[in-house]
Amino acid sequence: MTEERARLDTLHTTYPRVFSTGPLTWGFEHGDGWSDLIAALCANINEILESEPDASMQVKQAKEKFGTLRFYYRLNGVNDDVGMRVRRTVALAEKASGCICERCGCLATLRAEAGWWSTLCTSCRTDST
Ligand SMILES: [Zn+2]
Repeated sequence: MTEERARLDTLHTTYPRVFSTGPLTWGFEHGDGWSDLIAALCANINEILESEPDASMQVKQAKEKFGTLRFYYRLNGVNDDVGMRVRRTVALAEKASGCICERCGCLATLRAEAGWWSTLCTSCRTDST
């Protein structure tokens, strides 16, 4: 297991309010390059949730789809303001994933090759072909 992967696997213990039902069933279904993005996203969500005593989240799935991050979740005990702030934060991270190499975390571009969408930097894209 890589260091990045190990860090992702501790997020549910670092942010129990974000992962209120424990670790993800299928783990993080994306490359290690997005681990900083995911860690920042969870930290931001946690901070928003802390503004409301009963607010929590159940992360259902975090995966790559068509080259970008998809973060599926359910919110519990949040008011409209907190819900909106969380949705914006998640949407921003999903958008940002289209500029971050899924393999190494460098600046990257979202592109389709042979009908397959991916966000990879120039050197990772060269390696994969
Ligand atoms: Zn790369």
